[in-house]
Amino acid sequence: MKNKQEILDVLQNHFGFEDFRPGQEETINALLEGKDTLSILPTGAGKSLLYQLPAYLLSGTILIVSPLISLMQDQVDRLHRQGEKRVIMLSGQLVGKERASVLRNLKSFKFIFTSPEMLDNQQVLTALKKNKIALMVIDEAHCISQWGPDFRPEYLLLKEVRQQLGSPTTLLLTATATPRIRQDILKKMGMATAYQVIKSVDRPNIFLAVKSIATQKEKDGELLKLVQKFTGPGIIYFASRKLASQMAEWLENQTDLNVAAYHAGVAPIERFRIQNQFMNNELQVICATSAFGMGIDKNDIRYVIHYHLPSNLENYLQEIGRAGRDGKQSLAVLLYANGDEMIQRQLTSVDVPPVTVLEQIKNGKLSASVLGEQASLFEFYLEHSFTPQQIITMFERRKIQTEKELQEMVAYIKENGCKREYLLTYFGEQFDGSNEFCCDYELSDWTTKLILPVSQPLSENNKVGWEDRLKALLNITES
Ligand code: ADP
Ligand code: MG
Repeated sequence: MKNKQEILDVLQNHFGFEDFRPGQEETINALLEGKDTLSILPTGAGKSLLYQLPAYLLSGTILIVSPLISLMQDQVDRLHRQGEKRVIMLSGQLVGKERASVLRNLKSFKFIFTSPEMLDNQQVLTALKKNKIALMVIDEAHCISQWGPDFRPEYLLLKEVRQQLGSPTTLLLTATATPRIRQDILKKMGMATAYQVIKSVDRPNIFLAVKSIATQKEKDGELLKLVQKFTGPGIIYFASRKLASQMAEWLENQTDLNVAAYHAGVAPIERFRIQNQFMNNELQVICATSAFGMGIDKNDIRYVIHYHLPSNLENYLQEIGRAGRDGKQSLAVLLYANGDEMIQRQLTSVDVPPVTVLEQIKNGKLSASVLGEQASLFEFYLEHSFTPQQIITMFERRKIQTEKELQEMVAYIKENGCKREYLLTYFGEQFDGSNEFCCDYELSDWTTKLILPVSQPLSENNKVGWEDRLKALLNITES
């Protein structure tokens, strides 16, 4: 047993923080007592500390499962900055001799970051089994309960992986999970009796606004107005990569702001550059798809605008949660045109093939490629001993659930009462109604109520052209 002072010493000496934030101490205590724990703390609450701190009080390795390379990289960088060098990322990028050498020497690492897909690899798992895993962490654990074409079925293998690793103490982390999803995550991990630390998902400093708009064209006008009014930094979410790119270009032309598109269609090196520029405030606005931002630790994002609605309220909360991590007033605006939900319906739909087709694929009489883009998704289940009928049933059930979630998202948009109350009720909480800076339902022009940095019109003299910016960047002075 570690005593309170010992834990506080690590917090102060190692991390330089004076106190714990809500939910941190309770989670860490539970983990140090060897309890499997599910912690649901809002975005920016400091969930990384929950596994970083125990690392210095437990003997053995911390294994962190994370959905995205960019997220892992971000965590690895942060640990490096804290002076921790015993960190490794086991990803597909690691190959050949280097990989073999890392796998042989896993003992020399205190933190191992990896993806669910890597853990499906026998060689990796065998190497991990030779080590003492002090703590297994699943970050962004809501991924276990997600669905749609983007779903990563390897998440369902984590239960088995955990058992193979000798059921180490396990920490599940997420910012958003309704009571139903919580149960689903715990069930799929076989951790029904886990200790739970659950804090309100509410982010009181984020003002919630929805604007219903008749046409797309008017939507563009509204977006332009918002972006011109508030200086940002801001993120605008789009449902398609193409539109994100087009609108970034359009906004860049229409305003004095520096705007860039960020999505999976942008080359990795370019994404890296954009991310850095955004972090350094050289870019004010990013037009993104939902793949962006999960790991962005920029604490002064002032607004998140949704040009398209997300597929459900969990995703909405995740995405708006990137605003205002510094606790200052921030804004979430959703622009909605009638019928927008059709776009999401298309994006999340999975074409379920007839059971006979799956049977033929299973027997090798048909190539999975007939299933098009979704081939690998179905192949995965077939390879992991699901029967065709089980697969079909699972997908149909899920289809109903996805539609229900989309309807709840639309109901939020159409809600005439308090948006925050609706949101909190959805997540199984009660709202006590005490937030001066709440939502827009009773305000005719809510933008006047916001205390956000507002753009100053640039006079001709201090408008800086690209040539001057370049000179400044290269440190060239006029002689
Ligand atoms: P989350 O994963 O919950 O979104 P992070 O772990 O990325 O949040 O932490 C967000 C920020 O909060 C980081 O910059 C981190 O250093 C900071 N932080 C974490 N715990 C504390 C604390 N106890 N006191 C002050 N800052 C903290
Ligand atoms: Mg996090």
